[in-house]
Amino acid sequence: MAMIEFHNVQKWYGDYHVLKGITDSVDQGEVLVICGPSGSGKSTLIRCVNRLEEYQQGHILFDGHDIHGDDVDVNKLRCDIGIVFQQFNLYPHLSVLKNITLAPVKVKKTPRKEAEELALALLERVGIHEQAKKFPAELSGGQQQRVAIARALAMRPKVMLFDEPTSALDPEMINEVLNVMKDLARDGMTMLCVTHEMGFAREVADRVVFMDYGEIVESAPPLEFFRNPRHERTRLFLKEIL
Ligand code: ADP
Ligand code: MG
Repeated sequence: MAMIEFHNVQKWYGDYHVLKGITDSVDQGEVLVICGPSGSGKSTLIRCVNRLEEYQQGHILFDGHDIHGDDVDVNKLRCDIGIVFQQFNLYPHLSVLKNITLAPVKVKKTPRKEAEELALALLERVGIHEQAKKFPAELSGGQQQRVAIARALAMRPKVMLFDEPTSALDPEMINEVLNVMKDLARDGMTMLCVTHEMGFAREVADRVVFMDYGEIVESAPPLEFFRNPRHERTRLFLKEIL
């Protein structure tokens, strides 16, 4: 069953045609990796999915419903579709625990005690249970990114979007974040991951998409994508990053 459907999605920034008709569909439990050169529209595309960006033509459906339908509550949509950014975007003045409980308490009206219990369980899941009382600045980049993932999971999303979650990390911290993402994937989370971590793509992606100039150029399961890319542009890109 399709969880996210893109129907000819087109977007312009002023005169600039950034998404030139994206059509695709992501099944429940599918892990999609999106790669492509800088500026190809990857961030713009995934940001459209939880309405951080508007688009001018086409439709995106979540669970069968148009995300711009009249009955759609954006806050609810963003609970269902979590996002993790390259820059962790934690609230610097709040403890790790508060970073995670804030939205469940404020947006979902979850009782504080219940929200804290869930937050602690999620911190355990991402491997930093002992850091709950610290502030973001006291954590390493890898730990902060794991808090950001826990914060998104605290809303009990049905889909997780990742926008180059390891690109701002020192190399030795990349795996601790990828491992959390791999666990999530194995647990059946539906994931759209913009990343150039091709080892991750090989290991956990169900499908890899290559974007260039606002278009999906290639889309294939990882084995096929890496062994036998059909398009010259994909080959050139892979040659540069592998
Ligand atoms: P990617 O994530 O693949 O690097 P982006 O989706 O961030 O690409 O950006 C695609 C193109 O759109 C780039 O050329 C970028 O400069 C442009 N762009 C992104 N955001 C904006 C914006 N808010 N206003 C104008 N142009 C933008
Ligand atoms: Mg980007």
